[in-house]
Amino acid sequence: MACPLPSASAPALYVSDGYRVRLAPGVLAKALRLARVRAPLETGGLLLGAVVDGEAHVLAITGPGRRAVRGRVGFAADRVRDNRLLGRVSPCLRYLGDWHTHPGGPARLSRTDEASVRETLNAERPEVLHLLLSGPSAMQGHVVASVFTAVCGEAAIRRMEVVL
Ligand SMILES: [Zn+2]
Repeated sequence: MACPLPSASAPALYVSDGYRVRLAPGVLAKALRLARVRAPLETGGLLLGAVVDGEAHVLAITGPGRRAVRGRVGFAADRVRDNRLLGRVSPCLRYLGDWHTHPGGPARLSRTDEASVRETLNAERPEVLHLLLSGPSAMQGHVVASVFTAVCGEAAIRRMEVVL
């Protein structure tokens, strides 16, 4: 299997102090497509990619597993399926974090969201990303993409600033 290379065409860059995240072109478009299919229910999946020179490059995203729970408020991943999938794409792509949607909801993580993001941190994975798409309940029109980084030992989850 040939590994995808980080794209040379300008990916969206998100930063917070020394933490840098690049979203490959197409990642947001796919997330938005998946978001609209499920709206007004929440959906989500995995952020896959590589870390190059200390920058996280999100190269691909997945949709929800069949056993994921998509609610009006709340999304619970199908971790059994997700782990199987990660085994298949390794070592080209690694798990960088998760994404989910808030149709008709705020552009911030709920307490439950924050807790589940923190649950994915461990000694081998001291930083994880999270992408949140929020917008009108149909997820049409003005949809906001917020990128977060959770770092082991930090009290607050970082909201990344987009660099244009
Ligand atoms: Zn949420």
